[in-house]
Amino acid sequence: MVDVDKCCMTCFPAAVLGGVAEPVGEVTDDIRRLADKMIDIMLEKRGVGLAGPQAGMNLRIFVASIDASREKTRVYIDPEIKVSGGLEISEEGCLSLPGIHAKIKRYKQCSVTATDLDGNRFTEVGEGVLIRAFQHEFDHLEGIMIKDRMGQVQMIGARKRLRQLREDFENAGGDEDR
Ligand SMILES: [Zn+2]
Repeated sequence: MVDVDKCCMTCFPAAVLGGVAEPVGEVTDDIRRLADKMIDIMLEKRGVGLAGPQAGMNLRIFVASIDASREKTRVYIDPEIKVSGGLEISEEGCLSLPGIHAKIKRYKQCSVTATDLDGNRFTEVGEGVLIRAFQHEFDHLEGIMIKDRMGQVQMIGARKRLRQLREDFENAGGDEDR
């Protein structure tokens, strides 16, 4: 049972961001509604990707758009990724960690196999920012965020901001109101 009304932008340190998300399985109307809401959130926040846990949903789904446009947005349900090509460092942000940017190592190539909104499996080879976005969003489904991939020095730099996010979260009611 998917409570789509609970779908909303969710930031660190919400518990849903730290766990391994559940498979979606059958693509129902609820899942299609959820995907629509996730796309709205992603576009409103001007992100190139958003994963289920970031929308407060403990589900293996993410949306991504190479140019942050609605036309190019695609939905990836129960995705698997395949990486290759060695590692490269580049700066990343995360809608669930506002105010934090970090240099993160990612593979240079990445393809994703996932289910679309009609229930069909498809494979897409990542291009441009999607190469990194696929790896970043897949991480979210495993409960991993960029703060977990930062080196020690970057972590020291981010500590104050993480403390602020924790305080904001507690002041907003913590995990209780979700
Ligand atoms: Zn993120």
